[in-house]
Amino acid sequence: MSCYREEPKKAHFIIVPLPAQGHLIPMTDMGYLLAERGICVSLVITRANADRIRPIIERAKESNISFEFVELSFPNEMFGLPPGCESLDHTINTGLFRAFFDAIYSLNEPLESFIDSLERPPDCMITDMCNAWTAPVARKFGIPRVTFHGPSCFYISTDYNLAQHKVFDRVINENEYVTVPDFPIELQVTKAQTPGFLNNPGFEDFRKKSLEEELRADGVVINTFLELERPFIENYERLMGKKVWTVGPFCLYNKDDEMKVFRGNKDAIDQKNRVLTWLDRRDAASVLYISFGSTVYTNTQQLMEIGRGLEASNKAFIWVMKKIEITPVVEKWLDEGFEERTKERGLIIVGWAPQVVILSHPAVGGFMTHCGWNSLLEAISTGVPMITWPRIADQFVNENFVVDVLRIGISLGVTVPNYGTEDVIMVKSEEIRKAVDVLMDGIEADEKRQRSKDISEKAKKAVEEGGSSDVDLADFIHYFTEQRNKLESGDDIGA
Ligand code: UDP
Repeated sequence: MSCYREEPKKAHFIIVPLPAQGHLIPMTDMGYLLAERGICVSLVITRANADRIRPIIERAKESNISFEFVELSFPNEMFGLPPGCESLDHTINTGLFRAFFDAIYSLNEPLESFIDSLERPPDCMITDMCNAWTAPVARKFGIPRVTFHGPSCFYISTDYNLAQHKVFDRVINENEYVTVPDFPIELQVTKAQTPGFLNNPGFEDFRKKSLEEELRADGVVINTFLELERPFIENYERLMGKKVWTVGPFCLYNKDDEMKVFRGNKDAIDQKNRVLTWLDRRDAASVLYISFGSTVYTNTQQLMEIGRGLEASNKAFIWVMKKIEITPVVEKWLDEGFEERTKERGLIIVGWAPQVVILSHPAVGGFMTHCGWNSLLEAISTGVPMITWPRIADQFVNENFVVDVLRIGISLGVTVPNYGTEDVIMVKSEEIRKAVDVLMDGIEADEKRQRSKDISEKAKKAVEEGGSSDVDLADFIHYFTEQRNKLESGDDIGA
């Protein structure tokens, strides 16, 4: 149902995510949430990405809410991208990263055509911070525009301050620690660990545009909540000089398992029953969940090293492996012993796992994570303490937040970025065993688990009626629909 076509006076918001799982998932969640609150929502998405999450459309229809996909075809051929290469996870380490962004930037024309086809322009455009190309489109049609940030305020203030103060211009060794200026706490980072948004060689134009357009936006919306990082939210709001709406954690708005399974990739639907049956047989907080998100990989040697650590720890586990990680050597290693030796206590998922369903299960007592912000927020929301293993991008700073500020994580001590494809062992099996043992059993484990539960209670309160995120969401909607409401009631808003 696209109610803005049948009822043109209804509020209509348009959402333009970056085609990458870590961005698409929270922005889809946000779109669905806005639709549940009575807004007509159009999610601008490319065909292959739409196919991944199509069940959500059926769900929206059943629930009689106005949530639609605007499906654009991705110009793969024009930019030399293989067919189906429409998401960031298809491009990492393939040399296609720049071509992928060029292709995204060319979506301005089909987006304009869509808006042109409407009786009137939408009331608000929510676009990913990396989608600066949407800003001129919004301006052309006079649409207020809000930027969406994937990571936390803790991270984006760090990134912003390091850039503003040109801290790394004075640094010769990229592994030397520096203090983040103008920040609410003492935070030390290296240049290698905090490369900054789109700060790759050859991306200078994209980064410059993104930062400029963020400053021109009508506000910022973030998947976080006030009680989690108030000083850092306030700091970012001060730096930006504009309203920052904190309306998460989105994963907590997905109340039932069906909705949790839809997130990101419909392949997880096939895994759901198998996973739940397996977890239902386990004791409370006895299972370690291991997953490194959607983009980074684990090379063959490191993957088997993790396996040795898990075997030595003797704990129950669910381990998500990416299809690309199942090399012939790994396949042989799994078939010739590992699976047999751990079959009583281990479950391996190859492909896409229903992560939030798993983290929400009472049997899960720990999460080994790469520290992507969505994964962290999902663990925070479900009260699961973590073993942290950052690889790239915002993940080192996120680790700092979880380990040092929230004190619900145990670091594996990795300090140098690595996508995981280089054939090096970043963490030895013995380190993994030790961290798993400390996280899952003993006094430190109990303390971290209790602290995690306390923070998750705050997260749940934030999204309840009258909670900080619920109130901010209502304010966000009100802010962008006020003008429409005035038009409907016939007020002269131009006076
Ligand atoms: N995810 C999932 N199943 C998987 C792997 C990832 O549902 O097998 C989801 C996860 O729940 C999170 C997102 O994908 O919502 C990954 O985002 P994150 O920011 O943690 O990391 P990224 O993939 O961006 O590195």
